[in-house]
Amino acid sequence: MSFIEMKHIEKSFDGTPVLKAVSLAMEKGEVVAMIGPSGSGKSTFLRCLGQLEIIDGGSICVDGTYLAKSEGTAKAVYADKATQQQLLLRMGMVFQQFNLFPHMTVLDNILIAPKMVKGMKEADILPTAERLLKKVGLWDKRDVYPSRLSGGQKQRVAIARALAMNPDIMLFDEPTSALDPELTGEVLRTIKQLAEEHMTMIIVTHEMAFAREVADRVIFMADGIIQEEGTADEVFGAPKSPRTKAFLDSML
Ligand code: ADP
Ligand code: MG
Repeated sequence: MSFIEMKHIEKSFDGTPVLKAVSLAMEKGEVVAMIGPSGSGKSTFLRCLGQLEIIDGGSICVDGTYLAKSEGTAKAVYADKATQQQLLLRMGMVFQQFNLFPHMTVLDNILIAPKMVKGMKEADILPTAERLLKKVGLWDKRDVYPSRLSGGQKQRVAIARALAMNPDIMLFDEPTSALDPELTGEVLRTIKQLAEEHMTMIIVTHEMAFAREVADRVIFMADGIIQEEGTADEVFGAPKSPRTKAFLDSML
């Protein structure tokens, strides 16, 4: 069984199907880039994995444990709360909007979840917080409030904050879409570094050059269906579906 197995995920909003039996299996250490036009269901798919949406059907299995599973009928049956929580703690999520706590310094933003959720002592988290803030190049900003940071810096803090929970999986939903173009590079470099360290990641992005460089596998989604998937070279170099080709041409 793969590390992450999402099978035949179905999700509708107000009777409109948004995910139509979407399946994805991923191994540990794999980097998957998800591309596709807006409204195709990419965010919904990530949100289903992160349990921010309730699926209507299909199954989600992480590291051998089912988070949700439909049993014959369309409706999915969910794991108990404790199981869910344990698995969710292993997933870090970074969104387009950074959602830092504005009334806390950079360092406190990093410390808060390990303290509150895992009950760790500050002294025990500090070395990790220092390592992570140095990794994203923001240790010197540890006592600053988010309002004093650029968008790129905020997003790097958001990444460090997610990493502070020591996740096995990182989910990125258009992490650079809210940034000015000159600030995307610093965030993409941070994510690339994680890829080099073999962090398991799903990255929804419109940065095609980045996706090609960093992803082991690329998934093209449109209309709630995976239209094409393959290695970065296959999908970008020789797209099979006319749909993929048209999309990639539109991104040039
Ligand atoms: P993408 O991330 O690929 O742009 P989304 O997953 O955000 O696509 O959205 C897919 C479709 O689902 C869109 O038509 C969107 O309007 C709809 N949708 C997403 N979230 C909701 C929601 N909470 N309520 C109603 N419709 C939604
Ligand atoms: Mg989206």
